Amino acid sequence: MEKKLALLGGTPVVQEQFPESLFKWPIITKEDEDAALDVIRNNLYSLNGITEKFQEEFAAWQGTEYAVAFCNGTMSLAAAMFAIGLGAGDEIICPTKTYWASITGAANLGATAVFCNINEMLSMDPNDIERCITPNTKAIMVVHYVGYPCDMDAIMPIAKKYNLKVIEDVSHAQGGLYKGKKLGTFGDVAAMSLMSMKSFAAGELGILVTDNRRYYERALAYAHYDRNNAKYITESEELAPYFNLPLGGVKGRANQLCTALARVQLKYYDERCAEIRKAMNYFWDLLEGEKGIYAIRVDESTGSNMAGWYSPLGGYRPEELGGLAPDKFCEAVRAELAGHRVCFPGGNLCLHTHNLFKDYDAYNLGKPTRVAFNSRDVREEDEKCRPSEQICCVSVPWFKHYDTKWIELYAAAYKKVIANYRELLEEEDATKNKGGRWHGTTD
Ligand SMILES: *Cc1c(COP(=O)(O)O)cnc(C)c1O
Repeated sequence: MEKKLALLGGTPVVQEQFPESLFKWPIITKEDEDAALDVIRNNLYSLNGITEKFQEEFAAWQGTEYAVAFCNGTMSLAAAMFAIGLGAGDEIICPTKTYWASITGAANLGATAVFCNINEMLSMDPNDIERCITPNTKAIMVVHYVGYPCDMDAIMPIAKKYNLKVIEDVSHAQGGLYKGKKLGTFGDVAAMSLMSMKSFAAGELGILVTDNRRYYERALAYAHYDRNNAKYITESEELAPYFNLPLGGVKGRANQLCTALARVQLKYYDERCAEIRKAMNYFWDLLEGEKGIYAIRVDESTGSNMAGWYSPLGGYRPEELGGLAPDKFCEAVRAELAGHRVCFPGGNLCLHTHNLFKDYDAYNLGKPTRVAFNSRDVREEDEKCRPSEQICCVSVPWFKHYDTKWIELYAAAYKKVIANYRELLEEEDATKNKGGRWHGTTD
């Protein structure tokens, strides 16, 4: 292989067009199409029969008593916060590096997001949680970021000690395991996106799962109404007077075009994810021991796994590559891939740095909404999340198939850049741009 980096005029490692199936997702067959056509031909979008079946099947697969579908993951997370009774003046702890919808719904309930740091695996740092706890703390939002299961053995005892509720955001890790137990079954309630770009992809859809009857009924009452609700809200006297109107003032039910698709996707999801994991583990095995980049993955012999390996990232240590800035590293890798848009400085930007959490006044109270109902100004604590801003990551290809030839080629591109990093160093580098983005897509 030629040594000269493609970015500097050498020959790229990958020159042919990759096979479309290598990355295409979700996998759609005639069975998916038929399920969708049934909804279209019979105008079933707004009814409930298909959604009810999906909820039953999903709950059985998840291993929870109840499942409630919503129009998207954002809504399911908002309903989860309402379900546990999060309200004005309450604080909820959330990792600062996550997609915004993990926590933006808290403000609608008058609650306050308190951000905690992530660790090198881009995962909520259990050692930083107790710093965030005050008498106002009501809950922890656990996010299994990019499929990596959070350290539940450390997090759950803290929740128990301080009597906090735990919500799991499983949007990146549907079907994943932590030490043999399914993600989304550790906390009081879990919610997740099944949106078109997630590993469980079914158009625009979200779902909430729980074993707690009261939370289940409250989640229903938040964003469902009338025919979708009445027959399920049977035990909560607090809700009985209201259930024919949605208590959240929103219409959050699922579109059956999506639940029809999701029923078919669910049937094949586990086997397709197993193949993704085989492919991704192979890719990372090939990069084992390389300088500058490290795998965000778990050792599967512990019974944990990376679910569908959503939006795969590698940790990036510029100091191991002479301070090479992540954006430059990624540019060089993309050049080796003949422009294929796979490698970017990765991940979501840290939420504590966004103005929405600093000064936005949704209620015209003359006070930022995040702190409007709180007895303290938690924004002062945001400074302590600076270490999370320093943790770099870069995206890697999300292989859907165990195609060794192509996986080896992509790994070779990363390796070539690492081997020749010195040629890319410039004086101004030193990690000036750590990258990241506010939205959830891959480029
Ligand atoms: C995608 C995502 C959501 C929001 O889901 P939508 O279906 O897009 O509303 C919430 N949390 C995380 C971590 C996500 O990645």
